[in-house]
Amino acid sequence: RVLLEVKNLTAIVAESRQEILRGVNLTINEGEVHAIMGKNGSGKSTFSKAIIIFWVSLEVLVGHPDYEVTGGTVSFKGEDLLNMEPETRSHAGLFMSFQTPVEIPGVSNMDFLLMACNARREKRGEPTLSPIEFFGFLSPKLAAVNMNPRFLDRNVNEGFSGGEKKRNEILQLAVLEAELAILDEIDSGLDVDALQDVAKAVNGLLTPHNSILMITHYQRLLDYIKPNYVHIMEAGAIVRTGDISLAKQLEKEGYRAISSA
Ligand code: ADP
Ligand code: MG
Ligand code: MG
Repeated sequence: RVLLEVKNLTAIVAESRQEILRGVNLTINEGEVHAIMGKNGSGKSTFSKAIIIFWVSLEVLVGHPDYEVTGGTVSFKGEDLLNMEPETRSHAGLFMSFQTPVEIPGVSNMDFLLMACNARREKRGEPTLSPIEFFGFLSPKLAAVNMNPRFLDRNVNEGFSGGEKKRNEILQLAVLEAELAILDEIDSGLDVDALQDVAKAVNGLLTPHNSILMITHYQRLLDYIKPNYVHIMEAGAIVRTGDISLAKQLEKEGYRAISSA
């Protein structure tokens, strides 16, 4: 079953009208792990933001007013996101982790997760959980992402180390039980131990029914989270698709050797 289908997606920088995405095509099926790799500035982050623009059905992204989607379609489970009722859209399970996770001062991690979990359950027509029930639901997920329960009392991401922030994102993902997670550089700024923790957390969440799109600059991440497909993005388009061997080749020969030019 197809989860995400992106066709000929184009986007520009609003101010300069400079084209950043030049026709991205990508299909992700249920249960698949995909990786998009590419040089700095190839358009990877713009791609994830463009999907969010479709997701929330805005012409420009709040907080990122710099981008404008100029063409293409994005559908989720066969439904065009632009035509999807807002109600249906919020039921659909997409999770996006940005390169820099936000800090929310004054809101404890526990309250935030409980709120997010119950908001989601309400939308699905499921009964909400009491804090005690929620803790029961959360405990195995804390264990899966190897997170110490004392982080629940801290404010969301406030003072967290890079690795703790990333693991907290994965915990949010676990709580929301999203069908598709788009993870933009979850490996950035992590040492090998933190990277392994984060990868273990992600692997612990994989089921035959959810999918992951990892966006990364480095092959290293793919040693720990094995993708079914590896895509190379270059100058705003996916120029090559292969399996893990494409990432290995990239590591050995560099982007220049496998570029389309
Ligand atoms: P990546 O995530 O692959 O490193 P980005 O999507 O962040 O790449 O950026 C793609 C290209 O778009 C780069 O050349 C970058 O300089 C340009 N770009 C991104 N955001 C802006 C912006 N707000 N204004 C001008 N250029 C931008
Ligand atoms: Mg970058
Ligand atoms: Mg980026």
